Amino acid sequence: LFLRHGLADGGQVEADRAQANYLLNVLRLADDDRVLVFNGRDGEWLAEIAAAGRKACTLRLVERTRPQTPQPDLHYLFAPLKHARLDYMVQKAVEMGAGALRPVMTRHTHASRINLERMEANVVEAAEQCGVISLPDVRAPAALDAVLAAWPQADAGRRLLFCDEGEESHSPLPVLARLAGEGPSPLALLVGPEGGFSKEERALLRGLPFVVPIPLGPRILRADTAAVAALAVVQAALGD
Ligand code: SAM
Repeated sequence: LFLRHGLADGGQVEADRAQANYLLNVLRLADDDRVLVFNGRDGEWLAEIAAAGRKACTLRLVERTRPQTPQPDLHYLFAPLKHARLDYMVQKAVEMGAGALRPVMTRHTHASRINLERMEANVVEAAEQCGVISLPDVRAPAALDAVLAAWPQADAGRRLLFCDEGEESHSPLPVLARLAGEGPSPLALLVGPEGGFSKEERALLRGLPFVVPIPLGPRILRADTAAVAALAVVQAALGD
């Protein structure tokens, strides 16, 4: 369970109303029952229900069960889709080990307004579900060309895997084998919008030294499918 409180000093914490409702009415926990909690900074803790009221719940921190781990180093850049499909992309990115989520606005991006709070809520929900205790950063949306222009300063040494249908080979393996052979280096993934990248965007991306185009098979995948496929092959090939 994600808590916004500081946990490092132990002691007791008051669950907020939504969390108390989840603990008492959804999980049906009672006094002395135990639950794992985290806040994204102080590691994972075992907590005990110290006082379960009708709508309130005090948790006693028993012991730290996992030290805080650093965020995974994989950055996930994506042209945001709308509503439920964006929720899906965000949740899968957390489950698949993204350390930062960066919505990039491209020429054919559908979604104009991004609800960052909704994205952050989806990050927390996915983290609670898959046992991630270091919450990925959710960055504010930015125009693709601005992100690329700032890259040498902001992301020096990080390669950008640009998900794009292949010309010679449709397989991602040669790209991943080359990356693996070059030793560990911070990576980012870029998945385009349903309408694809514009000709200009594709030329800009393919002309940059830190960009590595990666095909994901011979078929055209939907953006949310491509996102999961790309995260899966990168994780399979390069670990964590
Ligand atoms: N008609 C669009 C085009 O011509 O690019 C299709 C875009 S596709 C629905 C959405 C995004 O998923 C693409 O921009 C690309 O990033 C990724 N994608 C889809 N299929 C892919 C593939 N076979 N290989 C690599 N990336 C792919």
